[in-house]
Amino acid sequence: IPAFHACIVGAGLSGSVIAERYASWFRDRKVLMVEKRNHVGGNCYDYTDKATGIRVHKYGPHLFHTNHKAVWDYINKDDLQRRGAGGWIRWDHEVLASVENSHQGSTFVPVPINGISLNILFNLNLTTDEEVKTWLDLHRPRKEDRCTLSNEKRETEQKECQNAEDQCISRVGQDLYNIVFKTYTEKQWGRKATELGPEVTARIPVHGNFDSRYFQDPYQALPQKGYTRFVEALLNHSSITTILGLNFFEVRDILEDGKFCSELFFTGPIDAFFDEKLGKLEYRSLMFSPRVFFDVGESSHVQPSSVVNYPSPDVPWTRSVEYKQFLRQKSNHTIVVYEHGTKYVAGQNEPYYPVPNDQNRRLFKMYQELSKRLESLNQSDGNRKPKVHFVGRLANYKYFNMDEAILNALNLFDHLYVNIHGSGSGKG
Ligand code: FAD
Repeated sequence: IPAFHACIVGAGLSGSVIAERYASWFRDRKVLMVEKRNHVGGNCYDYTDKATGIRVHKYGPHLFHTNHKAVWDYINKDDLQRRGAGGWIRWDHEVLASVENSHQGSTFVPVPINGISLNILFNLNLTTDEEVKTWLDLHRPRKEDRCTLSNEKRETEQKECQNAEDQCISRVGQDLYNIVFKTYTEKQWGRKATELGPEVTARIPVHGNFDSRYFQDPYQALPQKGYTRFVEALLNHSSITTILGLNFFEVRDILEDGKFCSELFFTGPIDAFFDEKLGKLEYRSLMFSPRVFFDVGESSHVQPSSVVNYPSPDVPWTRSVEYKQFLRQKSNHTIVVYEHGTKYVAGQNEPYYPVPNDQNRRLFKMYQELSKRLESLNQSDGNRKPKVHFVGRLANYKYFNMDEAILNALNLFDHLYVNIHGSGSGKG
């Protein structure tokens, strides 16, 4: 019997959900969690700032939202509440963009762009959803001049989008692109929009109505006690041992010994797992500059919304986040964190966003081939290594929202164990 049945690398949401499922489903099997940072939670990690008493998300603001009832039910499980997760509080996130317009000068408009934003930006008086949709449609290029994504339904004669700029203009028209999206995208990615893949702007939402909420999902909420407490609750199980501050690559020989672990779940970067032998996958990183404002008043704020985007080329940061506004926290002070897109340098900062271009897509496919070959190896074939599974955003080289990370981990677990072992195993 190996020392641990499952060894998991990375205590972000993906790894922690696998750990929780494994420990709850197989009640007698031991799980080892290895995390290189000195905290759990991965990029969702939050903490209480000492100077202000305000809860801050260390790696950028995280707003939970999902369409998936299964994910919502999972994060609200009684079992997790009993282990200290805390509840989820409904939170409809709203974002403003600080923009210049011709008739007012500097002003704030809701993002995603909707009827309210259009009225402010272009001095209009749109009053119905129909009018908003018609305005948006009239200001897009003519149908035959629009491009589509490769996986989108194509109307006759439409060409495929070549880059983020032609994709975005096709979607929102030149004016909105220039005012709201162009410079923001370029600041975020440090490249011209014409040098970025069309998928970069494909997810930018525009609403043909007057709904200013950032997300439209039926479930949107913030964890009452924070994300870190939620992840701690996932790992708070007698079968799970968590070691912080331990890099997989320092103990790889041990974790890849079948006598120590029979299954290995890796949630770190896929190219690192294979020693970057085919080349390095590119990432974009972020820099966070916090500023504390003292004695502003217990319920007062210094910006008009929790998150403000800055599409202007004259402002160096892309957005600013006033954490006090999340869940209407009380403090006599406030803290604003200014976010800048920056180059990723391994060992110096964090790999946040995969850079979507053909070269990275090709490289990832090659690593995926290697990972599939490894995943198909079976211990019973005389192979004394653990069975390896790649999970999470870094191993999939894909931007996952939190709900997607959770769903992915739940689906992988079901695929590996529940659908096979069925009712014979624990119900966790
Ligand atoms: P991660 O959280 O990255 O966890 C991976 C873990 O593995 C890390 O803790 C890392 O330290 C560890 N690890 C890596 N390599 C090793 C190693 N060699 N040894 C040991 N440990 C290792 N999603 C939303 O739904 N809503 C949002 O508002 C939102 N905002 C975001 C804002 C930003 C700025 C970013 C970057 C992401 C945002 N996300 C948001 C996405 C969210 O962060 C991810 O869905 C989630 O973090 C994915 O979890 P994960 O476990 O797959 O990866």
